[in-house]
Amino acid sequence: MVDMAFGSARVRNANHAAARLFGLADRAELIGGTIGEFATAAAFESLSRIYSGLLDGAESIEEETRFVTRAGEVIDVLLQVSLPPDHGGWKRVLVMALDVTERNRAQARLAQSQAELTHMSRVTTLGQLAASIAHEVNQPLSAIITYARSGKRWLEREAPSAAEVSDCLDHITSNGTRAADVIARIRELARKADPKREGIALPPLVEETAALLRRDFQAKGVALDVVLAPGLPELLGDRVQLQQVLMNLMLNAEQAMGPLAPERRALAVRASPDGQGGVTVEIADCGTGIEGDPEALFRPFFTTKGEGMGMGLAICRSIAEQHGGTLTAANNAQGGATFRLRLPARIEMEIVPA
Ligand code: ADP
Repeated sequence: MVDMAFGSARVRNANHAAARLFGLADRAELIGGTIGEFATAAAFESLSRIYSGLLDGAESIEEETRFVTRAGEVIDVLLQVSLPPDHGGWKRVLVMALDVTERNRAQARLAQSQAELTHMSRVTTLGQLAASIAHEVNQPLSAIITYARSGKRWLEREAPSAAEVSDCLDHITSNGTRAADVIARIRELARKADPKREGIALPPLVEETAALLRRDFQAKGVALDVVLAPGLPELLGDRVQLQQVLMNLMLNAEQAMGPLAPERRALAVRASPDGQGGVTVEIADCGTGIEGDPEALFRPFFTTKGEGMGMGLAICRSIAEQHGGTLTAANNAQGGATFRLRLPARIEMEIVPA
């Protein structure tokens, strides 16, 4: 129990666990002292919030905050503060506390492993696309060589044409830029970075992903149809992670169409408003379809592929959820499966002071 008010609150009574929380050997060291000694700035703020909440009539208030033990170690503490039934006119409050430092550390470690897994899966996907990526870079490089040769020929003529050479140089510049852009995009996908929260326009992201996969699709005869509704709202989140989801879903669709004759392989990617201010992206294939419960596909390590890891969809769903969205799958009436990714729009507000 702690006497009011919190800034200079004195401890009336405390158990051994409370003493241990603050790194004290005996509760006698705590009783009669102030908890101000152990409070961080955040703890003072929490305590004053809790105090005003209780004054406003709340019976019990819970808040996580930070204290410092006597040895100087910062600890995360979940506080539950309430007025005892016999509080006698606001003379004291009852504080229950739980040391959640380890739990928070475990959560941070979990988040770290999840981030590493997400990154690993992205790099694995990029590996699958190596041929496609090489082609994306090779095309502008070949164009550069062609234009350089052509420019040289113009220079070697009896009457060299500065205009033609200049034209060739322009083409070299734009193709060089294109190759550099592809490499920059791949590097971004391969990089391990903390998730970002930035405004994202969906159409270019879908187009970029389609461009990365185009060569792979061509080689396998997959006809890709992309339809992007106009006026889609901007999203908020991590571009690279959302691109990872699109890439995974499109590659899975391609693989599900493996048993089909190449000329029958068709993939439709459609983005449209979801009717609730957000966006729905549908990736519909005409492949094998899903056998059994579609939800099973999202379980970690579920795979029907010989060399599959079974983590792709589990990671895609967790990325969708981290963006406040959902990812579901269903079979199409006419065969094949459709994966539906829903993402909320970025919330924007303009507040004019009164
Ligand atoms: P992996 O590709 O390593 O198997 P995923 O989590 O990406 O891991 O996919 C899990 C499983 O879900 C696949 O093995 C496949 O059986 C099924 N699946 C994924 N996409 C489709 C699809 N478009 N159509 C049918 N089944 C699919």
